[in-house]
Amino acid sequence: LFVAFEGGEGSGKTTQSRMIAIWLRDQGYDVVQTREPGSTKVGMRLRAILLDAAERGLSPRAEALMYAADRAEHVEKVIHPALRRGAIVVCDRYVDSSLAYQGAGRALDPEDVSKVNAWATGGLVPHLTVLIDVPPSVGLTRLGGAADRIESEPLEFHERVRKEFRALAAAAPDRYLVLDGTLPPEKITQAIQDRMRDILPD
Ligand code: C5P
Ligand code: MG
Repeated sequence: LFVAFEGGEGSGKTTQSRMIAIWLRDQGYDVVQTREPGSTKVGMRLRAILLDAAERGLSPRAEALMYAADRAEHVEKVIHPALRRGAIVVCDRYVDSSLAYQGAGRALDPEDVSKVNAWATGGLVPHLTVLIDVPPSVGLTRLGGAADRIESEPLEFHERVRKEFRALAAAAPDRYLVLDGTLPPEKITQAIQDRMRDILPD
């Protein structure tokens, strides 16, 4: 079972994916909690480049390819092996982040971003994607200043990202669970648990 968490800056998806991983382990499941970018050796180096404020001028295509490269390595070295042995994979960000950030955010052709990522992942799609939706004004305030290269993009950039996430969710309602990220964290965790109970293996 492969579950991805998506959302803008300061949405609380990292906290939620952690809570869900703990909840699953408590029930005895083998859980691999992972994130993008940066969950492999090469991925950590890519992450350092991708988040470096000094790389402000990075070309959008290079950025998209680096995220895809990180993801290819992640799928092959971490996600596939975990799924093969029957573990539940809880992943903080996946392909839809690239459609939102590199596609909508950087205004790259969404078809191109989609194709590159389908190739990078061998077409691996999560069974469930949890979108924690939060207005960028709220999310960015939560971060309280510590800004990486992407977080310091203007508000319009983050508005495009949010709009794309919502559009992706609307286009794939069976795969998506969309939650209001301004709700109390316990309520959000509960809603994710309710949805996951239906798809958990015995
Ligand atoms: O989730 P986290 O905040 O750790 O992600 C690291 C950074 O990478 C974020 O600022 C996020 O916006 C950015 N990112 C991106 N494109 C992706 C994935 C992450 O711009 N495909
Ligand atoms: Mg961040």
